[in-house]
Amino acid sequence: MINAERSPTFYRFDSTEQLQVWRAMDAADEEPVVIYHSHTATEAYPSRTDVAYASEPNAHYVLVSTRDPQEYELRSYSIVDGVVTEEPVEVVESYMFAHTGSDDIPDRG
Ligand SMILES: [Zn+2]
Repeated sequence: MINAERSPTFYRFDSTEQLQVWRAMDAADEEPVVIYHSHTATEAYPSRTDVAYASEPNAHYVLVSTRDPQEYELRSYSIVDGVVTEEPVEVVESYMFAHTGSDDIPDRG
């Protein structure tokens, strides 16, 4: 996962690391599924800068706000051609239970 620099109004990637990640994804014929970063002082909603830099129409842009340490704030959006659409986020006990039957036993291996 790409680690973005924390800032209330702007974030950027380490350019060398970013290039390596994108080249590796390209070589493996992969594309980003989730791109996330945090807002330390504002709500978990894409800023104008976030929208301007959003270039992956198939990605889920996840924003975590840490403005209030007592509040849990995580939201997900698709951003296509400058249009922000919030996506529902379901928090589950484990990934496996979210995608298998309720009688399944979690894999401890
Ligand atoms: Zn942001």
